[in-house]
Amino acid sequence: MNNQVETALARMGVPLPSPGGAKTLVSRSPIDGGALAEFAMADAAQVDAAVDRAADAFRRWRVVPAPVRGEFVRRFGEQLRTHKQDLATLVSHEAGKITQEALGEVQEMIDICDFAVGLSRQLYGKTIASERPGHRLAEQWHPLGPIGVISAFNFPVAVWAWNAAIAWVCGDPVLWKPSEKTPLAAVACQTLVEQTMAESPDVPPAISRVVIGAADVGQRLAASRRLPLISATGSVRMGRAVAQTVAQRLGRSLLELGGNNGMIVAPSADMKLAVRSITFSAVGTCGQRCTSLRRLIVHETIADDLRDRLLQVFQRLPIGDPTVEDTLVGPLIDALAGQAMDDALAAAKAQGGVVHGGGRVTRGVPSGGVYVQPALVEIAADAPILQQETFAPILYLIRYDDFQQAIEIHNGVPQGLASAILTSDVREAERFCSPAGSDCGIVNVNIGTSGAEIGGAFGGEKDTGGGRESGSDAWKLYMRRATNTVNYSDQLPLAQGVHFDL
Ligand code: NAD
Repeated sequence: MNNQVETALARMGVPLPSPGGAKTLVSRSPIDGGALAEFAMADAAQVDAAVDRAADAFRRWRVVPAPVRGEFVRRFGEQLRTHKQDLATLVSHEAGKITQEALGEVQEMIDICDFAVGLSRQLYGKTIASERPGHRLAEQWHPLGPIGVISAFNFPVAVWAWNAAIAWVCGDPVLWKPSEKTPLAAVACQTLVEQTMAESPDVPPAISRVVIGAADVGQRLAASRRLPLISATGSVRMGRAVAQTVAQRLGRSLLELGGNNGMIVAPSADMKLAVRSITFSAVGTCGQRCTSLRRLIVHETIADDLRDRLLQVFQRLPIGDPTVEDTLVGPLIDALAGQAMDDALAAAKAQGGVVHGGGRVTRGVPSGGVYVQPALVEIAADAPILQQETFAPILYLIRYDDFQQAIEIHNGVPQGLASAILTSDVREAERFCSPAGSDCGIVNVNIGTSGAEIGGAFGGEKDTGGGRESGSDAWKLYMRRATNTVNYSDQLPLAQGVHFDL
């Protein structure tokens, strides 16, 4: 095991896993392919037992006052502050994020804890004017039940925290199946939760559990009637499979699936701002964010200039070990991701695309990892490759001449997560944000597609799954609504003026 990882684990007090049982899982670092730790995978009986414990914990947790639940989340946030650097080190080593992005991911966890603490005193229901005299009509929000969280490798800790912090203040235990590529970071998070619990006698320990495994464990959670909500983040393929299983039992699913994010760059765009925001969105996390910029739709009058500026920047990007301070582009997660990038570039070429960059980087990088030069591909708007998300740093450049056409190109893909426009023309900006503009869940003006704040509801439309998590009123999905009508009169008037005289 790597020294930095060992130190971070020791500082957090994370016990080294002792694998046993029939099936084990080795977590490997994308930096050099080295093994980080080996874990026992949960079998069906262990998953069911964890669900049972979460269901028992729910019976106690749901009656703890929400502000008291918030106090637990506040203390967990403090624990994260103490170990921000340690957890970020694990994220860098297990998911390959550069240090700045790994620290940002942990900061996002801290931010959502702060948000959830405030929320714990604001789980408001409405009081509604009753049409009947002497009646009070109101709604209350109650805890929903234990929540199953299935997460992806590229946000190995923040996505769980978005769910967990909100679910806990809402009164729900959380059972987490992390990506099989990032189990170590998950176990570290669970350790920090348990340390927080050690000082919180009123918190049932089973409000937080990690179950390690692959798709079969995810399916077991999805099929469990005792988990009223499954929050699943990952590919569209995974989302379809999970949604069908959850729908079979009429459960609730919150889906955060793939994106295929576009940006329109209008002639009036600020070019300096454009190069920085496009580069960060396209190559951040080596193109492995759900919000990574994949399609750049540029007005034909500025397309050559913007292409040349981007190529200049792309050629001198520091690529390599993500834990080295100046690195801006770390590795792809594994060899399969490298193959997917090669396949997409070959398809783009076959479809008439002009490919710049995109090759493997082998010098000045750790051996054993998959390091790539980000690619910029000039391509026609109707190329079929534009319809798919490839989880790698490939930026397609498409030219447009008419603004309405640009919006249609932008919306002409199955996914609908993040979108952006760079323009100084207020009419274009507002049209992009209007009902006839971008059809995505996230619509930005003069910033890139990635790097959302936790205060807003996060998620997307169409094949992205329609889920919303994190801020705003996303908490409502983690609760059930009860509409109460209370008659405090001695009469029994019926709604809609119905007479039913005995
Ligand atoms: P993935 O779909 O391969 O795996 C995600 C999780 O789902 C893992 O925990 C995996 O074990 C589980 N899983 C896979 N198949 C399953 C099945 N049939 N039933 C139950 N569980 C199953 O995704 P990945 O490669 O880890 O992550 C990349 C994808 O995630 C990209 O498509 C990316 O856009 C998406 N993503 C979306 C968001 C968002 O908020 N919209 C955020 C991060 C990642």
